[in-house]
Amino acid sequence: MSTILIVALPTPLRRLFEYLAGQQDPSSLQPGVRVEVPFGNQTLVGVLVDVADTSTLPADKLRPIHAVLDSAPILPPDILALCRWAADYYQHPPGEVYHAALPTQLRKTETAPPQTTFWRHTTKGKGLPEQALKRSPKQQQIHQLLLQHGRLSDADLKLFDVSRAALRALADKELICGERGEPDQQPAAPLNAELMLAETPQQLNAEQQTAVDRIRYHHYQTYLLEGATGSGKTEIYLHAIARSLQAGKQVLMLVPEIGLAPQTLNRFRNRFRVPIVQLHSHIADGERANNWRAAANGSARIVIGTRLAVFTPLPDLGLIILDEEHDLSFKQQEGLRYSARDLAVMRAYKADIPLLLGSATPSLESLQNALAGRYEHLILTKRAGSARPPRMETVDMRKEGSNGVLSARAMETIRQTLARGEQVLVFINRRGFAPSLLCRHCGWVANCTACSARLTLHSQPCHLHCHHCDLQRPVPGKCPSCNYPELNALGQGTERCEAILQQQFPQTQVLRVDQDSMRRKSAMADLGRQLEQGEPCILVGTQMLAKGHHFPKVTLAVLLDIDQGLFSGDFRGPERMGQQLIQVAGRAGRGDLPGTVLLQTYQPDHPLLQLLLREGYHAFARSLLQERMLARLPPHWAMVVIRAESKRAENAVDFLKEVLQIGRDLRRPSPEHAYLGPLPALMEKRNHRYRFQLQISNARRAELQSLLKNLVERIETIPLAQRVRWNLDIDPQDMS
Ligand code: ADP
Ligand code: ZN
Ligand code: ZN
Repeated sequence: MSTILIVALPTPLRRLFEYLAGQQDPSSLQPGVRVEVPFGNQTLVGVLVDVADTSTLPADKLRPIHAVLDSAPILPPDILALCRWAADYYQHPPGEVYHAALPTQLRKTETAPPQTTFWRHTTKGKGLPEQALKRSPKQQQIHQLLLQHGRLSDADLKLFDVSRAALRALADKELICGERGEPDQQPAAPLNAELMLAETPQQLNAEQQTAVDRIRYHHYQTYLLEGATGSGKTEIYLHAIARSLQAGKQVLMLVPEIGLAPQTLNRFRNRFRVPIVQLHSHIADGERANNWRAAANGSARIVIGTRLAVFTPLPDLGLIILDEEHDLSFKQQEGLRYSARDLAVMRAYKADIPLLLGSATPSLESLQNALAGRYEHLILTKRAGSARPPRMETVDMRKEGSNGVLSARAMETIRQTLARGEQVLVFINRRGFAPSLLCRHCGWVANCTACSARLTLHSQPCHLHCHHCDLQRPVPGKCPSCNYPELNALGQGTERCEAILQQQFPQTQVLRVDQDSMRRKSAMADLGRQLEQGEPCILVGTQMLAKGHHFPKVTLAVLLDIDQGLFSGDFRGPERMGQQLIQVAGRAGRGDLPGTVLLQTYQPDHPLLQLLLREGYHAFARSLLQERMLARLPPHWAMVVIRAESKRAENAVDFLKEVLQIGRDLRRPSPEHAYLGPLPALMEKRNHRYRFQLQISNARRAELQSLLKNLVERIETIPLAQRVRWNLDIDPQDMS
């Protein structure tokens, strides 16, 4: 009998791999350690997921591993189980899932954890009275931390955000000293309630109190916290977090992808004097790995992260919160196409702990779960604090005069708002100067040569840009087709809007907020600081503005071009339009000043828009749920999209036809089970590849799952599968 190691390797194959233990010490072979193994003629780092006595292969086919990279498992059993579940549910190659769960640095052959500096009191420092340094608050903070914890590593001190200068000053006075050593695996001592709170919490209003009281901390339950922007959801999170921290638990807080983490971090740091770490893409790899370790060894008590953080090991996890749960960024759109929200539900369920999903505009998925009683529904109807809900009005663009972008009414309201010393937000969901460049003489349009899409005209710097494949071209001086000497920018984007506003309000600062202007990592935080100073200004931006940011001095929001969502080819178009509209509107009037929202539209009488404005998001969403029911669409039906793309359109189509045939053989279409396609994708050509898709849906999720298992096995044997790029998207969020 020999020891067979079952290893997950980052390859596109939907299977695990077997190896021999070789010369390795058997006690080191625990599931969750990383191993280095030979694979073909390469060396790969994988995760040991299981140990078996017998192999499915003859012994001479098996090779021994090269090395075990960790002395103890770095992925604990619950994370291994979550990865296994995700690989299974999303029908994804398991090795890629385990790989994704590791921070980038640990995906490589890095062994011994780095040495670190520990700080402790000298004898002189220990003798110092507790309040001795109170004239120097930064030194005082370090003094108290060391009194409380005895010894803290550089990394720990970083978690508490202490000043390096203060640290050096204390060392110079010989009150503290540093020593080199191995990083500690010991969690920091639990903190008592008084030491933990850095500020006095808000007195909750009755609605908030009811919501907080309904959360049970010792069992699994998902709660959907539905409340308008400013209704006090974050305050509820803070109360729930305090409860968990006091019980010695860790908290995982998941936020959307763009820019919200720093703001959340500040609010949490103001409230709690506990180590808080961030895990998101704006943190450098090295720091990210350190933060991940701090979470995994228990020294970080609160982890704030984006979707990938759902896989973070947390030995004392007691509560998960997912804010802005409707946000699309919780679903990964490539590779492992997982939903961090759905994985959070699974993780909370397995850990038997509460999960809070919060939003002013819940996804139809979560709303449906709440209405069906699977989630507990906590509703906040009022704005907390002094703010009142904004006044919302449509501007009928068929009747209003406009400068091509903004209506006369919007311009006048902006002028009045600025004159009162307040701030304005203009929302337009297109970056660049204009979405197309056109010859009025012959009708030529600047198209992308690689995609079925138009090139966007940019003015800063001046060029044409494809937002789908990144192709960039100079702007032609005359029409390439008929030589007419003038080309026209058609439609509007953020840059054009910015230019028009700057021209109209030359004395006022106009700030553009989009992917192009926010490229710098600190750009969002800088913007927040600038707005806080309160000078009148105009913000022009895309949906980046819609994501939960708190702009207390903004009292007017103008939304341009909200009609697209009503006529989108994606069945989720109206849901997204409603969410965006309410989220942007929620940015107006959050402080003490009342807010106004102007919606420019050519469809002021559209029934969905009317419903949204008259009765609010909840009624709107329930009506959409009804429609989805009749149309047999998610969330009522489960859906998978199988996508294929190829430089030759017929390869993609023929491949999907074969998939359809296999599917039909496995499971006939019925009133409970439907196939749709192969159809061209909404954007048929992208980056020189033709894109097609096949939808399969079933009234029951479990049945779709069992079909998919068989289907995927068979798909892999289709010869054309080698010639096209194909993928499965389970519970797809974006149909483009
Ligand atoms: P949301 O997360 O729903 O947008 P917040 O929790 O950020 O709402 O609350 C909005 C504003 O109201 C914040 O400035 C917050 O400090 C304040 N606030 C929240 N709850 C209360 C309360 N119970 N009493 C007074 N002010 C509150
Ligand atoms: Zn022309
Ligand atoms: Zn392109």
